[in-house]
Amino acid sequence: MPHSVSSNDTPDLPAAPFHIAIIGAGIGGLTFAIGCLKNNVSYTLYESAAKYSTVGAGVGLGPNALNALNMIDPKLRTMYNDISSGNLTPNKDHVMMDALYAEPNFGEDRGWVPAPFGASSYDRTSAHRVDLLNILTSMIPRETVQFNKRVKTIVQGDDGVTITFEDGEVVHADAVVGSDGAKGPTRGFVLGDKWPEEVKATYSGKYVYRSIIPMDDALKILGHHAGDAESFLGKDVNFITFPISRGTQCNLVAFKFTKDQVWTHDQWTKRVTKEEMLADFAEGVDPRLVKLLDWADPLQWSLHHHMNTPIYYNGRVCLLGDSAHATTPHQASGAGQCIEDALVLSHILGKTARPADLVKAFQVYDSIRRPRGQKVVRTSQEAGELYSFNHAECGEDMDKIVANFRQRFLWIWEHDLQADLARADELLSGTSKV
Ligand SMILES: Cc1cc2nc3c(=O)[nH]c(=O)nc-3n(C[C@H](O)[C@H](O)[C@H](O)COP(=O)(O)OP(=O)(O)OC[C@H]3O[C@@H](n4cnc5c(N)ncnc54)[C@H](O)[C@@H]3O)c2cc1C
Repeated sequence: MPHSVSSNDTPDLPAAPFHIAIIGAGIGGLTFAIGCLKNNVSYTLYESAAKYSTVGAGVGLGPNALNALNMIDPKLRTMYNDISSGNLTPNKDHVMMDALYAEPNFGEDRGWVPAPFGASSYDRTSAHRVDLLNILTSMIPRETVQFNKRVKTIVQGDDGVTITFEDGEVVHADAVVGSDGAKGPTRGFVLGDKWPEEVKATYSGKYVYRSIIPMDDALKILGHHAGDAESFLGKDVNFITFPISRGTQCNLVAFKFTKDQVWTHDQWTKRVTKEEMLADFAEGVDPRLVKLLDWADPLQWSLHHHMNTPIYYNGRVCLLGDSAHATTPHQASGAGQCIEDALVLSHILGKTARPADLVKAFQVYDSIRRPRGQKVVRTSQEAGELYSFNHAECGEDMDKIVANFRQRFLWIWEHDLQADLARADELLSGTSKV
């Protein structure tokens, strides 16, 4: 049954059977809103900020994420092509990254040759997050979004969900999809009663410094390495570089692993001095990598994740994106999982005819998306051990680590999303059971 959408493009459709409140306009909420538009699902998107985000650094998308974008709307995939960058060196289209040592001379002194990992199914692409957000927001009718709307409480009743915002406004929706990020309030509502210990994201044992370097400068410092995606591995450190902004900028993420230490700062970011930042990489790191930190804000971004999420919904309130499965970035897959969530949930809601069926819809989404989303979180943490020479089996053995990298992403990249949608259809129609 077609649903009407709050959009000028579709004025003549019949009245919507239900209305969804989407909380949060990050990559998850925006791609889900576009999926709702495509599936004629009525929604309003509420965002706490005064406007769409204009901050962020590089983000890489694997073939699964690109397929999901294409399946949500082929226009998204085309627009992504225009803003993304591959490796600048020819014939490295299918190389995710080269593995090098972070130590002086990048391992050359011990005879190490940069080792590529990727797959024929993988095309190297990454983009500036702001460019990605811009193409997403260009697809969303302005009248379906409300800014300055910070959700304070969510209360569920027999006939839907009541949301109270910090400005005092109260709205009612048939269901809520919380794409409000790792720290948003929806997760507490979904898990708080039964699994209070799983509500808060936990510190993953590492923080990062981030910088974007003009490509001309990066090339002067790193030579040809700057133009390609590279991972420089060291004991308790890892530097990732890749081109963004159509090759005009080099994105750097510098990881510092803190092992069993806890994150004691009250915020997830902590400002330090430049000297403190450099002290994190004082030993065993090639000075060229340290030089790239000249462009970094000395701000530690702690990495938190949701290792366990026992369920993605509570009645008519459902989690999507980082609110469900915040992950460390070692497999470059967090945003990709948001987009997969958006594809699957918008498809399911497009096939849902009555408010009374919304709980079943969320149950079907949970059964398809949660095992995969949570596996990404778990395996990403393990990937971090590999990048920092802390993996129990591979340790500092780069040959073993690279062999692992050449296999470990395939299940993420080559996943059959059409099969997910077909499975959703079977579960919804009752031809198979959750
Ligand atoms: C260093 C780093 C590198 C990464 N690299 C990659 C990569 O290469 N590839 C990849 O796929 N992923 C990557 N990720 C992960 C990716 O960035 C995230 O998974 C993704 O951006 C999460 O999107 P989201 O929409 O779920 O949440 P968010 O982007 O956190 O958006 C949540 C939104 O909800 C709003 N909100 C919060 N609370 C409220 C409230 N109470 N009321 C209303 N609105 C609210 C916020 O303002 C925000 O706009 C990386 C992450 C990090 C930290």
